[in-house]
Amino acid sequence: MDTRNVSTLIAGFITAGLAAAPPAPVDGFARVRVQVADHVWLIHRPVATDAPFEGNTTVFEQEDGYVVVDAGGAPPAGDHIVRLIRELGPKRVKALVYTHYHGDHNLGAGAFLAAWPGLQIISTAATRANMTGPAMAYVKTYSTSYAGMVDFGRKRLDDPAVPASEKEGWARFVAAGPGMVAGYRDLAVHPAGLTFTTGITLQDPVTPLEITFLGRANTDGDAIVWAPRQRVLASGDIVVHPIPYASACFPGEWIEVLRRIKAYDFAVLVPGHGEPQKDRAYLDKLIWVLGELRGQVAPLVKDGLDLEQVRARLDLARLRRAFVADEDGWGRFVMGAVFLGDIVKNVYQEAKGIPIVQGGS
Ligand SMILES: [Zn+2]
Repeated sequence: MDTRNVSTLIAGFITAGLAAAPPAPVDGFARVRVQVADHVWLIHRPVATDAPFEGNTTVFEQEDGYVVVDAGGAPPAGDHIVRLIRELGPKRVKALVYTHYHGDHNLGAGAFLAAWPGLQIISTAATRANMTGPAMAYVKTYSTSYAGMVDFGRKRLDDPAVPASEKEGWARFVAAGPGMVAGYRDLAVHPAGLTFTTGITLQDPVTPLEITFLGRANTDGDAIVWAPRQRVLASGDIVVHPIPYASACFPGEWIEVLRRIKAYDFAVLVPGHGEPQKDRAYLDKLIWVLGELRGQVAPLVKDGLDLEQVRARLDLARLRRAFVADEDGWGRFVMGAVFLGDIVKNVYQEAKGIPIVQGGS
């Protein structure tokens, strides 16, 4: 795992590349902008495995304005993204697409609406339903939850049994704590005004865009955005790099959606978090890990084991090593917290026919 300090990276970027621009406030939500293709940029935090865990933002330039995919996960994140878009030129953002309902992809939208009143927000109908229903109720207590996680991190730092390589991660988490607790306070949810169930095309002579629902995967309403001319695909959290994100996912259908994404002739795949992918190797790894888990869990469910008995029987270390080295204590913690815990539960529920309910981040 990359253990460089995010603020050092960002400070370095500002000094190196943006000498003429007004200095950005260096808080935990600061981002950098990289060009992905002609008329396409990624605005992100370079180290996806360090908090705040913020969704990637992709900017597509059309003739009459920008179309932006995901808005950042907090008001200060939205402010940073708006500033970095404005540096691209005088065009306005005409549309904002949410890939799914998780707040780390849309709680920065208030800054967009303030900067470009009247912009169209687009999502699947399922994402809108989640954003206007109980699935997103968690945002009311998000700041308090993070305060609790910072306290938990302090305890891990004081615990002699915690490996040093995990403590490095907690030290960064605790340092980002005050910024996150403040940033996640008073959150406003801005659901889409324009929804679809199968897809929408945004025509343009240079950068036409196809926004499509490929099936249930990471959530029940994931949208992908495909730029066929530039061959760039923004996947949302269907693909999260370098550690996948399970949450309330649908494992079997997720595999099918990953196969559909593989069939796109992309030159660059921008995942929901992490580094752009130029080939299909990581997609294959995700398809493999989901298939392995389903294969391991199915016979145990058939034998009548309950969830805790299933967990005890699985060989998760082998799967984890495909993503995280054994000596990377922080990576191991993140892998357990955002993937292994939830995915086993969801695979088990799927095998038993128990509905997977949307909710949480
Ligand atoms: Zn996310």
